[in-house]
Parts: sequence; C-alpha cells; structure tokens
Amino acid sequence: MCLVNCPFAAIADKSQIFQLIQAIKRGEEVIACVAPAFVGQYGPDATPAKLKTAMRTLGFADVVEVAIGADLCTVEEANDFLREVPEKIDWMGTSCCPAWSMMAKKLFPQFKDNISMALTPMVITARMVKKDHPNARIVFIGPCAAKKLEANRKSVRSDVDFVLTFEELLGMFDAKEIDFKTLEADPTDGMDEGSGFGRGFAVGGGVAAAVVEAIKHIDPDREILIEYGDGLKECRKMLAMAKAGKRNGYLLEGMGCPGGCVAGAGTLRPVKESTASVERFKNAASSMSTTESPYLGRLKDVEEKC
Ligand code: SF4
Repeated sequence: MCLVNCPFAAIADKSQIFQLIQAIKRGEEVIACVAPAFVGQYGPDATPAKLKTAMRTLGFADVVEVAIGADLCTVEEANDFLREVPEKIDWMGTSCCPAWSMMAKKLFPQFKDNISMALTPMVITARMVKKDHPNARIVFIGPCAAKKLEANRKSVRSDVDFVLTFEELLGMFDAKEIDFKTLEADPTDGMDEGSGFGRGFAVGGGVAAAVVEAIKHIDPDREILIEYGDGLKECRKMLAMAKAGKRNGYLLEGMGCPGGCVAGAGTLRPVKESTASVERFKNAASSMSTTESPYLGRLKDVEEKC
C-alpha cells in the first residue's frame, strides 16, 4: 500500500522484467501464469483470447490462468478446515495473501498454526505447469508486489522463476505497440479452465465464499462461520477478536489490499471497474464449483515437493 499511496514514489518494487525478457530472447520456453485479477486490466478490448495472443507475440510460449490453482487451494483449505477446526485449532485463516499471512504470523506468533498450510494458487499452478514442462521458466503475472517476496522463499524459488505485475506487463505491450482494439485472436483460444469460485479469489471475500461453497459439497451438514478482513487494518482487528476468543469456529479471510487483489499495488484499473469485470468473468465460467475442477487429481503431484 506504501507503493500505491506514497506521493513521492519513495518506494518501488524490485523488477524482474529485464531477466524475463532476456530469458525470452535466449529462446527459453517461458510460460505465464496469470492471476485471476487479470480480467479487465488491459481495457474492454483485451479479452482473454486477445491477451493470450498478445502474450504469445511478446514471446511467451503459453498462458495459463491461476484460477486453476485457486480451485485446488480452495479444496485443500476446505479439507483442512473440516479436519482441524475445532479439534486442533479454534479457527483457521486463509493462506493465499502473503501480506496478510506474514502480518498475522509476525504480530500474533501464537497463531502461526492457525493460518492454513495450503499452497497458494500461484505455487500450485506453477508446480503443475513445471511438472508438465520441466524445462520451462515460469512467470507469475499478477496484481501483487508481495508475491515477489513469496516467490523468493526457499520452498517456492524453484517453482516460480519470475514475478511481474500487470503494470510491468503493460510496459511490454506498449514497447511492442500492441493495440488490443485491432489485434485479431481466435475467440475459442481463451481461458476456460478455472471455476467461477476460483476466479472469485481476485475480489475481497471471494476466497472465503469459495471455501464455504466447497465445504457445502464435501460435508453439507457442516456449519461454517466466516469473516473477511478488508485491508491490513481490518485484518488486525479480526486477529484481535480471535485473540479475545471471539472467532472460534471461524474461517478468517485476510486480504492485504482493501477490496482484495483487484486493488493490488500492480493493478491498472479502478477497483470498482475491476470488481465488475471479475464478476462477469466468474459468471462466464463453464463450471462454478471448485470441487468440479478437472485438476483435482493433480493435488498429489504438487504436494509431493513440499
Ligand atoms: S490482497 Fe494485495 S497483497 Fe494480498 S495477495 Fe492480493 S494483491 Fe497481494
């Protein structure tokens, strides 16, 4: 948020755009995994099919939606919740926002085991792609500066080679003078693998909604209470309530950016507009439920490496 709000631009994120372009220039197979908040970022003309075509023009070998990892992350968190709350932990926090999970663990170290251990959508997607393309370099393209730190973790470093923001990708489109208005793309070559709820991860409250929906499928009789922390200030309040014992039985979703990932430091469009775009893309998914993901059988694949 300092990145977004500092009037003097006194803080900047560390860019890997040079290293990424060099890898493409060397002829390496570079596969992009795009976060669910991508939709609408490059304007109304940039349909998913056009975005894919544009990225291939830049030299990416392929483009994969991270919503498929969000689907698997949801099912993992749903199973974790059912297994652990309240038997082992009083409440469970979601895992996918590094700003939230780091803050929770730093300020409330007693809760380190309450934050789900599920791999994040970025890591799950990257691991699946790497398993299928062992020589490929993986770039995660998203709204988030904090993901750059996550990708730097020892356990993640070998899965995600580069992290770029939507803003940095725009720089690449501009350099190649890509105009989405005139760009031609095969409309059937879009992205249609992530579920509606997986795509909903991009908007605040979407992660908890996805987990609740998955739990309804796995254990329909189970009641689940949820709360969403919109921005770190709200997350902190939520944790204080948990400390006071007032969030027992809850699934707590924390998002570092107010509004969720559509408000991340590397985004390009107003939050309201992006929220509406994500909602439309979510409703256009061929399957809504994360529990119907055709990739569920691959969870074992990605966990093996942990
Ligand atoms: S809410 Fe913000 S900090 Fe958290 S994952 Fe999304 S973009 Fe990153």
